[in-house]
Amino acid sequence: MPDKFADIILPVAVKGRFTYRIPEHLSEIAIPGVKVLVQFGNKKIYSGIICKTHNDKPDIKTLRPIIEITDPLPLVNDKQLNLWSWISDYYMCFEGEVMKAAVPSAFFPEGETTTPVNYKYKPKEETFIKLAAPFSDQELNEILDKLKKAPKQAEIVAAYLHLTGYSSQSEIKPIRKSLLLKDSKSSPGIIEVLVKKGILSSVSLEIGRLTDPENRIEPLRKLSDNQLVAYNSITNSFKEKDIVLLHGVTSSGKTEIYIHLIEEQLKLGKQVLYMLPEIALTAQIILRLQRHFGPITGVYHSRFNDQERVEIWNRVTDENLNTGYRLILGVRSSLFLPFSNLGLVIVDEEHDSSYKQHDPAPRYHARDSAIMLASLHKAKTLIGSASPSVESYHNAVIGKYGLTELKERFGQIKLPEIIIANTREAYRKKLMVSHFTPELLTAVDEALGKNEQVILFQNRRGFSPYVECSECGWIPTCVQCAVNLTYHKNINRLVCHYCGYTSAIPSKCGSCNSSGLVTRGFGTEKIEDEIKIVFPNATVGRMDQDTTRSKNSFNKIIKSFEEHRIDILIGTQMISKGLDFENLTVVGILNADNLMNYPDFRAHERSFQLMEQVSGRAGRRQKHGKVVIQTSDPDNKMIRLMLRHDYLNMYKIQIGERSTFNYPPFCRMIKINLKHKDRASLNNFADILGSDLRTFFGKRILGPEYPIISRIQLWYIKTILIKIEKEKPLVRTKEIIMETIARLEKVKGAGALRITIDVDP
Ligand code: ADP
Ligand code: ZN
Ligand code: ZN
Repeated sequence: MPDKFADIILPVAVKGRFTYRIPEHLSEIAIPGVKVLVQFGNKKIYSGIICKTHNDKPDIKTLRPIIEITDPLPLVNDKQLNLWSWISDYYMCFEGEVMKAAVPSAFFPEGETTTPVNYKYKPKEETFIKLAAPFSDQELNEILDKLKKAPKQAEIVAAYLHLTGYSSQSEIKPIRKSLLLKDSKSSPGIIEVLVKKGILSSVSLEIGRLTDPENRIEPLRKLSDNQLVAYNSITNSFKEKDIVLLHGVTSSGKTEIYIHLIEEQLKLGKQVLYMLPEIALTAQIILRLQRHFGPITGVYHSRFNDQERVEIWNRVTDENLNTGYRLILGVRSSLFLPFSNLGLVIVDEEHDSSYKQHDPAPRYHARDSAIMLASLHKAKTLIGSASPSVESYHNAVIGKYGLTELKERFGQIKLPEIIIANTREAYRKKLMVSHFTPELLTAVDEALGKNEQVILFQNRRGFSPYVECSECGWIPTCVQCAVNLTYHKNINRLVCHYCGYTSAIPSKCGSCNSSGLVTRGFGTEKIEDEIKIVFPNATVGRMDQDTTRSKNSFNKIIKSFEEHRIDILIGTQMISKGLDFENLTVVGILNADNLMNYPDFRAHERSFQLMEQVSGRAGRRQKHGKVVIQTSDPDNKMIRLMLRHDYLNMYKIQIGERSTFNYPPFCRMIKINLKHKDRASLNNFADILGSDLRTFFGKRILGPEYPIISRIQLWYIKTILIKIEKEKPLVRTKEIIMETIARLEKVKGAGALRITIDVDP
């Protein structure tokens, strides 16, 4: 007897799965993973996904039938469904929210629709040119003889033969028209003539939008002795452990080792997922991968449009060894692709905080979810970093993860020399030029003199330029958020970085009416202007949120820097990670202080990681790199440790503090965010929730308190933090939290309150 009922995940923010009746005519195709149309609520039709079919008649009055199944092939497989369910349980969100994050919305028209939508993907086509017939060698000679009087035409035919390596024994290969034109330096009209003469013919072929069929495949590079030791240690660890941490200094060849491990998996017919924290990084690594693995390598991130995401999704589903993607390079959302057969998941720069999604739900950590994903596939996970997160290193120390260390850079290149520049002293001695210390200027000057390149790193957080009254210190703030407005020189306006609100620059102080308004602080834009004044002959580029809005802007800036069309590149976090530039020798960290002075238990760890990461860009080839760290506090512990690239002591200090003050990995944390447009109501509800939670958790509850930014887009915010011992049962804890919140939501007036939960914040 076929199953009669289906539990369905719907893209609605309501708890649970929804049971529908399977009508007789759909009973054959209503299986887990297929997309269905159902009615939800009074009128609305939603697309959802079946996660389970069964015969248990649910105890509800009106059981609705599934309306339609537009595609009998499952859109997602059971491993994906299991991952969604795990994410929704662990991160305390709805499966519908996970589904929305996971499935490209083109497959899945947002929320309600009144008519069934069937998404059709239009493949992209491009014109290719080929020989019109399988000419013999003699025929070809005759053709070329005849074309002697038309040398341009002869050149095209010759270019075609050269590019395809055609001989009468081989097949006729089509090649891209654009490539042929470029190679023969001729014009489309001449190809037309040859087509008319019946020598060439033109065809339209569907091409993968994202891969270049002319990619060459290079053999793998030989691993160095050290790398080989590390490689063997990893593969040995994998015999006993599912997760291995590769702790390798910057430029030790971690990527090279990944490539060898990938090769091994591909040979076994397995898929590989390679995750990076930042889109900017995928640009360089994808080329390195495609060089070896060719067009089975795909890349996935949020800058792709819907249609492109659908194509990537389909190519991951495609099990054909030649046309399917078997290696995916992607950012955190790539773990939702429809993998069926993963052998290895690599999480590079595993310490990076961008792996955690903060908003909207699912608020998942992609490294931890990747480990779960791998285990669903019975695959291995390799996490790598030059400065691992305290949590991961701890897991390695206690033997939960395998640990492999690579302590030297590839090719015996030394780690960069760290120079600490004391800004306080330089200001006192009046040696500062704009925001630059003499040490930094000397280093930049020397590099430019040797025709080498420079990166200047400016962390954006808290250091954006703003306007201030010089009389009374008044600073214009956002009307909707509790933050200072940032001054943007190019548009000459003030902008809120939290909600996008903009305003003209006031002519007078809003408090004392004085007209003495001045700009303060320095962001990347300011640095760019000022460094241009100091080094008028250098070409300066900038990479930050403002210069990378368009899809290809990352690639363009990186390429310009690689091709040395930029001497000095200024940037934010984006340039700190994984990039590999041959001619880059000097890195400047303009302000290390504001990295440290951030009220978060991870601030010191993060500042060390960031400094190590940025400095790791310097001197990766023959030349010895230099890193100048500008700080007003040269005795700071993290900076002293940086001097010696002393990760291990950084770890020891941090793990000690975490243990003393009871922070992860010694406890788990769950953060509850409450938002309300009325401050008094917010305080009231937050207090109710806080004391209710205290009756269960006692001293484990911290807050409620205002976060650093206490109001965003008209919403006042308070947070409550719950710290739970590792040994306590997590499931029960979460249940209590959910029940407590449910009680609060029933209190009169709580309808205008918004509550979100962040697990492992
Ligand atoms: P990491 O990922 O640890 O920062 P990479 O893999 O990017 O290090 O290696 C740093 C540089 O050294 C890269 O330019 C890489 O091409 C080169 N390199 C590393 N290992 C080898 C090798 N075995 N053979 C040739 N070049 C290598
Ligand atoms: Zn705002
Ligand atoms: Zn004033």
